[in-house]
Order: sequence, then C-alpha cells, then structure tokens
Amino acid sequence: MRVELAQVAGFCMGVRRAMDMALDASMRLGGPVYTFGPLIHNPSALSLLEARGIRILEEIPAKGHGTVIIRAHGVPPQAKERLEHAGFDVIDGTCARVVKVQMLAYAHARQGYTCVLIGDKGHPEVKGIMGYAGEKGLLISSEGDLDGLPPLDKYIILAQTTQDRERFDDWCRRILARYPGGKIFNTICNSTSKRQAEVRRLASRVDAVVVVGGRQSANTRRLAEIVTESGKPCMAVETEEDLDFGQLKDFKRVGVTAGASTPNWVINRVLRQIEAFPSRNEPVFTRWLLQTLRFLHETNLCTALAGAALALSGIFMSGPAPLAGGIAPWRAMASLLSLSPNVLYPVLSTLMAACFIFSMHTLNRLIDMEASVYNDPLKARFLAAHQGTFITTCVLSLLISLTAAWALGPPSFLILLGVTMLGVLYSVPFIPGWKARRALKDLPGTKAIFVAMAWAVVAFLAPLGRWPIFIGFADWCIFFMIAVLVFMRSALLEVIDVQGDKIVGRETLSLIFGENKVLGMVRLLAALLLAVSVGMTLAGLVPHLVILFAIPAAWFMWLTRTFAGHRFGQNLKMELKVEAGFIFLLVCVVLGRVLTE
Ligand code: SF4
Repeated sequence: MRVELAQVAGFCMGVRRAMDMALDASMRLGGPVYTFGPLIHNPSALSLLEARGIRILEEIPAKGHGTVIIRAHGVPPQAKERLEHAGFDVIDGTCARVVKVQMLAYAHARQGYTCVLIGDKGHPEVKGIMGYAGEKGLLISSEGDLDGLPPLDKYIILAQTTQDRERFDDWCRRILARYPGGKIFNTICNSTSKRQAEVRRLASRVDAVVVVGGRQSANTRRLAEIVTESGKPCMAVETEEDLDFGQLKDFKRVGVTAGASTPNWVINRVLRQIEAFPSRNEPVFTRWLLQTLRFLHETNLCTALAGAALALSGIFMSGPAPLAGGIAPWRAMASLLSLSPNVLYPVLSTLMAACFIFSMHTLNRLIDMEASVYNDPLKARFLAAHQGTFITTCVLSLLISLTAAWALGPPSFLILLGVTMLGVLYSVPFIPGWKARRALKDLPGTKAIFVAMAWAVVAFLAPLGRWPIFIGFADWCIFFMIAVLVFMRSALLEVIDVQGDKIVGRETLSLIFGENKVLGMVRLLAALLLAVSVGMTLAGLVPHLVILFAIPAAWFMWLTRTFAGHRFGQNLKMELKVEAGFIFLLVCVVLGRVLTE
C-alpha cells in the first residue's frame, strides 16, 4: 500500500531534547535517574524509559538523591527549588519555547501586568507558566472562563504553546473588544502550527489518514480532529497493533502523521505495517516488486549484492585476472571445468566477498537485535522469526567464502581468515572499559571505520591473490577509494539508525558528532573521492575505469540532501538507495569495460 508520511511528524525539537537528556543521563550518570512527572504523553516512550531504569517522580520527597530531569513542559519555579533543596541534581529539559512564555509571564507580572494565559486547565505546561505569573496569572481554558473574565486594565495575553491558532485569535479578539489595550504575545509553537497545516495538506492528497500518538496527548487529538474536519477517514492509533486492516484495505494511498510526543520508532512500525499490507487497488507488478525488494532487504541479500557489485567493480577496474603464480587451485579448477580463467576468477572472487559480507552483516544484526527493534521493526521481527535458518546460512556462507578464498590461493585465504577472526573478535568483549569489558564494536565512533576496512579487504585486497607487499600503487589507490565509499555507506546507515542506536546506548558517529555533521562529512568525502578519482585518472596514475568512482560519489552526495529531510520510517527505501550506489558503480564499470575493449 502506498503511504505518505507527513513532513512534520513525531518528536518536536523540545520533546526530542528532553528525551535525549534522559537517555544520556541514564547512560552516563551513576545513581537513580527520574523524570519529574511523565516525560511525554506516550506509553511506548514511557515503557522504554522504564526499561532503561528511568523512573517517574510524582511527588517531591523531603529528602532524595539522584538526578531529576524536568520535562519539556517545564515546572513552576517553586517546584525546581524544592527538588534542589531535597538533594536532587536537576537537569532542566524545559523546551526553549516554553521558557520564553515563562519569562514573558514572569517579567510582565513583576511590572504589574495581569497575565492572561489561554491554555488547557491542569496541563503541566500551564501549571508551570502560571507559577511564573504568580498572583498575576489568569487562566482562560473555556468559553465559560471567557464569559466570566474579571475587568482587565493593564494586561497581556499569552498562549500555551500547543493551542489552536484559530481559537487563540478568536479569544484574543473577544477579550480586546471588552477590555481594549491589552498586549498580545502569540506564543503558539510553530512546530504545532506547521504540523497542523501539514496535516490539512496531507488529508487533501490521500484517501485516509492514520494519526499516531498517545491517547492522552492533546496535540495528537487535535491532529485527529483536523483530519475529521477535512472529511477524510481518520484512524487514531497508539501503536501498530491498533491498526484496523479491515478498514485500510479499501484505500489506495494512506497518509500518516503523528503528535509531538510520538517516538519515531512507533511511527516506523506503523508505517512499515501499512506499507507491507497489500492494497486491493495496487497493480500486481508493483506489489510483486515491493515484495521482492522487501525480501532482499529483510534477508540482508541486498547488502550481499552490494558487496558482490563492489568486488566485481574492483576486479574490472584493476585489470585482467592475475595469471602469474600458477599454483592457485582456481587455475587448475578452470582447466578441469573447461572454463576460461577470466570467468572463474571473478566468479570465485565475487562469491567470496558476497558470502563473507552476508554472513558477518547478518551475524552482527542478530547479535545487535536490540537497536533493530526500534530502527527497523519488521526486519528485526523477520530475523527473530528465522533465527535458526539465518545462523545456519551464515555458517554455510562463511564456509563457502573461505573455500572460494582457498581456491584463489594462499594469500587470499590467509587474508580472509585474518578478517574472519577480526570479525568474530569485533563483537567479543575483551577490552577493559569504564563500566564493563568492551568489544571492538563498542569503541565510540569506530564501527564505520571497521566496516569500511573489512569490506575493502574482502572485496578488493583478498581477490587480488597477492601478498599486500607486492601490490602496486594503482591497486592501493583503488583499495582506499573502496574503503572511503564503504565508510560513506556506513555513515549514512548510521544516520538512518540514529534513534535506535541512541536508545541502546551505542556510540556511533551520528551520536557523537550529530547527524548534520556526519552528513556534512559524507558530503566532503564524496566531493574528495570525486575529485581524486577524476584527477588521478586524468593524470594517468590509475586505470581509466577508476574515474567511475565519481558516479557513486555523486550519488552519495545527493543522498545526503534527501537524508537531511527524512530520517525515519523510510529504512527500506533509504537502505536500498544507499546500496544502489554500488550497483550503479558496477553497471558503469561493465559498460566502460565493454565500450573500451
Ligand atoms: S511543541 Fe514546541 S514548545 Fe512544545 S515542546 Fe515541542 S518544540 Fe517545545
């Protein structure tokens, strides 16, 4: 089924910051970590925090210890003081936009202004702002409050950040008509108004809209109301389990939006469930194509294909099959099978690379299932359901890879054996760390580097069938260009997986430097790869097909732009786009080889 995700959906800036603060505190600080009241109105996010040992502090005790995170809604100033007096370390997660309203209320109340706040009675954000306004605060949350407004002289009007714009404007007009001279501060958060405007546009383009979010979330409820007002069918769900496929089957194109407190991994699951559901009106070919792509993605076969494409590209770039030596079993096999060495050599090399990459990638996914549950739930579920089959296939693939390497000769076999041992060591904890023994994969920010080196060795160095000291300058250049290309691939995939990695506390490049910096780094590396591959080819330092590295470099540069806009709910499409870079390289190299021979 075709699904369109709203441009603005899921955690807003303030909620995301508060959530990050809580997860960081639970990972880095000793002692108990609390949030003062539920951090957000979403049961899935709350259960995750509970699983990470973050508890909810409902009342402030006389004495306490540990860290308390103040949520994005903020608290009255007295509550913050009482927490500090009780002995807690307080981390203030109040959203900057809420702080602005609190400060407006505080400053004007001190100057004698009455602070009229349009907001929901009992909402934590409203309680916090009223705390800053003190005795000068006046809450309007219903028509009744509006009618019973006392006479106002010197006053300002403020809005709870998630209020509806139309209602706020209307009530301001009515207050000013009765008591002219008041100052209006429109403090509605533009994240809310953008989200509401976007859902109106989305509803006009699709057959029905699914609104994802907690039942207690006011802004999620408002989104559902807007969809209903638009006349399109609306399904409000808390998780993917609430989806009614009996109702969904009649639609061709479904829109998905989510409230500001809905975690991305919940949206992700809902999206993937709807996408996987066949629509009655979907053409058979589209359905077949999507199912095939999904199968390649969920079985990790698309990663193996990317590895195979890289190995073949390297072989074609580097030149003809190495005929020197004459002792490698593959040459004997070629004459035994009456096959041309130029056919058997690339077949064995590609088989070795593809099987190794498939096996290591899948084993690591199986070991690190925790993060996949958040990043790519359907794939995680598929892997978990076929765990036994995957383990058997991984072992068989590794054996096939080692056999192919043995056939390619002693250098290839020993290089692959070395990488296999490093691959196993990668996930085994043996380095003394600050909390427990750590594995190589736990070293902050190194995963992309390890993967890049492993792929470059397996896809290019091992197939060469020569000891590294006998490899020439041009081949080392190709080796490093492949490593850079794979590094960019891993960095882009880490950007997609950032939320799950953050939840399980994995320190990837995206978590250390931030997603934008990583995308900037990929852009820079892609530009460098493009310039170096073109420059070195034109200077005659490397074989002429090396210039084609410019194609995946330009592709990755373009991908950084699309990744900056949408970073979740699109794992399938985004991962396929990343792996497609290697297929493009192979197609261009094959065409180049055919045209120049
Ligand atoms: S909705 Fe706006 S004001 Fe409220 S937490 Fe999110 S970003 Fe901040």
